[in-house]
Amino acid sequence: MPEHGQRVGDSSLLLTDYHVHCDYSIDAVGTIDEYCSEALERGLVEICFTTHYDANPNSVGGDGFIRVKGEDLPAVPKNLEPYVRDVLAAHDRFYPGNLSVKLGVEFGWYTGASAEAEKLREEFGLDYMLCGIHELENLCFCCADSYDKCFSRFKVEEAIDRYCDQIIEAAECKAVDTIAHLDYIRKYGLKFYGSAIDDVLLQKCQESVFPVLAATDTKLEVNTSAMRRGFDSYFPRMPLLNAARRAGVDVKYLGSDAHQPDHVGFDFEIAAALTSLNYAGCED
Ligand SMILES: [Zn+2]
Ligand SMILES: [Zn+2]
Repeated sequence: MPEHGQRVGDSSLLLTDYHVHCDYSIDAVGTIDEYCSEALERGLVEICFTTHYDANPNSVGGDGFIRVKGEDLPAVPKNLEPYVRDVLAAHDRFYPGNLSVKLGVEFGWYTGASAEAEKLREEFGLDYMLCGIHELENLCFCCADSYDKCFSRFKVEEAIDRYCDQIIEAAECKAVDTIAHLDYIRKYGLKFYGSAIDDVLLQKCQESVFPVLAATDTKLEVNTSAMRRGFDSYFPRMPLLNAARRAGVDVKYLGSDAHQPDHVGFDFEIAAALTSLNYAGCED
């Protein structure tokens, strides 16, 4: 595994990072320029910013904010404008130096979100929309202080049903390119439900989710952040990735889910072997 600051690419691998937060996300640090400089340093050819956009109106104590110049503003389209401007300006600055910078968001899914996702994509001409599923019935399952309350309402099968219903709805939304961290529910779900959660999720994905992802050409990412969070596999783990491939789902993008600049391109040298393309760029 490369040390911090070491180049992760060589001349035959044109690596891209399609899941990067910056300080417009309330849980991330580092400016857009700092992430871009890190990407160049590591030999990446493209970086796509995917700041959180969490606008579930019924979310219980959620993260529905965009941080603009240190101030937390509600996640509404108008407050995304400074982020959009900054990413586009970064593209103009860094492109001549051989780094392409793309404009994306990690759209926090909730039931009934399709129209809002489509409107947001169109309004800002987003290059990329990553769908992040972080809640079950309006409660976060990936925050340390709420997962217990979230999961204690459901048996494991019920939790997975609700999780997968959101994946299917998002895949059917034409604004969504990619489902982020497919088995992120195991972040705390493994602790809460035990390994049954992996079996139930795999089965449900094979029966109901993968056919929809394949039919709608909704991609999956290999999210390397799991390795930073003490797991021994990426999100998703290999059995899910293999089953997705067998079902004709395109596992295309690499994402570090960076929340600080030195996370960019984390473990990509190895993870790249799991994606369908070494170069996963959008068209200019
Ligand atoms: Zn996420
Ligand atoms: Zn993320």
